[in-house]
Amino acid sequence: MVPSLSRSVLDLLAPSRCLSCRRRAAMPWCPLCADEVRVFPAGCQRCAAPRGRGHPCWPPDAPIDGTLAVYDYRGPVATAVVTAKLHGAVAGWVPLGRALAATVDAEAPDVDLVTWITTPRVRVRSRGIDHARVLASAVADRIELPLVGVLGAVPGGDGRDRYEAIVDLPGSNVLLVDDVVTTGSTAVRAATALRQAGAGRIVLAVLARAGAHPLTGAPREPTARISGPSPEARW
Ligand SMILES: [Zn+2]
Ligand SMILES: [Zn+2]
Repeated sequence: MVPSLSRSVLDLLAPSRCLSCRRRAAMPWCPLCADEVRVFPAGCQRCAAPRGRGHPCWPPDAPIDGTLAVYDYRGPVATAVVTAKLHGAVAGWVPLGRALAATVDAEAPDVDLVTWITTPRVRVRSRGIDHARVLASAVADRIELPLVGVLGAVPGGDGRDRYEAIVDLPGSNVLLVDDVVTTGSTAVRAATALRQAGAGRIVLAVLARAGAHPLTGAPREPTARISGPSPEARW
């Protein structure tokens, strides 16, 4: 088994490839795949979904006051996230982080610090990276706010990770960073831990949001549908 650090270093030294089609190209996408990338349309400030009559939103008791999403989670974006997260292309998180940071900077959320939905240690070891930390670090650098590791995570017996705050946040307004929001279950559990630690306003910032469906905190998180050959073959 290749140690995770070595795998990360090897990946960083590897030729840059499109995270979607794996052609030689600057990350995250080659020009062909970039044409298929869709930004998430501007919508509700609380959940980011397109506004409309009865639009689905976070449940009233979800401790999330705002949501920023860069991309629609499909096509090359979904493939890129899965490739970077599960197939060893850890260098891909750097350009993806720059994209998230640019959006957050433009939206200028009223927050005091940046944190992230951490990955349990056992998976960080196998993947070689706590990917949401890389995204959050890019955001914190860009908006010049402190990056604070607030959350601890352990795998839950039901397949869902559990979060607890390891520092207190009395009255702090927090930007909570993750890669993708799908059902919203993970974000609600992480935000709940932040609120229990005393956080004030909590704004979620994600690279991609999956559709405009209700964010209910449902127990199952759908996985991205990937077409074409397995990214494993090239990474
Ligand atoms: Zn491509
Ligand atoms: Zn909404």
